[in-house]
Amino acid sequence: MRSVKQALADILASTPIIDTEIITLYQALGRILSDDTFALLTHPEHDISAMDGYAVRKDDVGTLPCRLEVIEEIPAGTLPVKALNAGQASRIFTGAALPPGANQVVLQEDVDVTGKGEIRVRGVEAKSHVRLRGLDFQKGGLCRKKGTMLAPADIGLLAAANVAEVAVYRRPRVAILSTGSELVRPGETPGPGQIVSSNGVMISALVAQSGGIPLDIGPVPDDEAAMIDAAAAFDAADICVTIGGASVGKYDLVQSVLSTQGLNVGFWKIAMRPGKPLIFGDFKGAPFFGLPGNPVSAFVCALLFLKPALQQMGGRSPSALVAEHTLKTLQPLPANGKRETYLRAAQSIEKPGWVDILPIQDSAMLSALAAANCLVVRPADAAVAQVGDGVSVLSIK
Ligand code: AMP
Ligand code: MG
Repeated sequence: MRSVKQALADILASTPIIDTEIITLYQALGRILSDDTFALLTHPEHDISAMDGYAVRKDDVGTLPCRLEVIEEIPAGTLPVKALNAGQASRIFTGAALPPGANQVVLQEDVDVTGKGEIRVRGVEAKSHVRLRGLDFQKGGLCRKKGTMLAPADIGLLAAANVAEVAVYRRPRVAILSTGSELVRPGETPGPGQIVSSNGVMISALVAQSGGIPLDIGPVPDDEAAMIDAAAAFDAADICVTIGGASVGKYDLVQSVLSTQGLNVGFWKIAMRPGKPLIFGDFKGAPFFGLPGNPVSAFVCALLFLKPALQQMGGRSPSALVAEHTLKTLQPLPANGKRETYLRAAQSIEKPGWVDILPIQDSAMLSALAAANCLVVRPADAAVAQVGDGVSVLSIK
């Protein structure tokens, strides 16, 4: 059986990066740049005023108070037509270009208008209140790097640089097929012996959170014809996922049925708990994940393997295993066996630096998973841990 690390390495090695598309900045939130993106103009384009006041020459305001002749008014959106000579000032407003010769803005609060076309300057601040040309960025300079996930401020910067459209990686479409004759959709009334399918919507949410577009095409009963029918939707997907039916039970049909439809199994089973029966392969060339049916197993496998694959396909550096850190355990833990173990846990609010291992660790029970904000990772063959020992923790929220 593969270790988690080996399985992830194998999965990432066979996950391609997706193609790209051009979108407007209004569509760009959370998207990943597929090219280095350069400024189309210089900002500011001129030396501009940072305040409402008067553009002056520093030499003229060395001794205060002083009187200056006002030769022009320059609102934002216009350019000055007159240069300043000794003893002259121009009325200026925030964002307007400084006239040639000016190198200081005095605040309007520090000035008295003494007559038509004349001011008396009472004070000059140490700051020039001039924003120099190119202070923000230069035309042709790198604005945002390939691989950046665009946040609101990135989008603002690109807009300022007059980049109205950007090239981004397409969001991978992930088809999710839940299998099980016992399953009904959320909102339907379960019949005798039936349960509500939680996995389809939960894994859809994880896919959306990881930058993909989920296509929830289940649940389907454990029936060959129904599964073949449903698998037709895989043709439109960049990544194919089944949930349930991945083990060796009489009704576990994923491998046997889908192998006739285009599934090639790369490997099956990982030395981990929960989640041992994960299948990885390709379905007509698209990465294929056969997640186990127990909801916590499905979630942990999706978090550890599907999410990084999806992120890599979508142009991001896979992050799932990088986020590990160490906290002190509030509970003693037994020695671990050969399978790496992921325990549902909560970072303690009362005791920062400590982690509370939740009491119910059954892989079919979702309340502990929802209450958890992290997983404690117990490596294969980990020794007994006493209260206060450091344990490795992976964030899940
Ligand atoms: P399986 O892997 O198909 O044997 O399923 C293992 C367990 O997970 C069974 O108890 C199933 O009823 C349960 N299960 C499978 N799929 C889902 C689902 N989509 N939502 C909730 N439970 C599920
Ligand atoms: Mg099943």
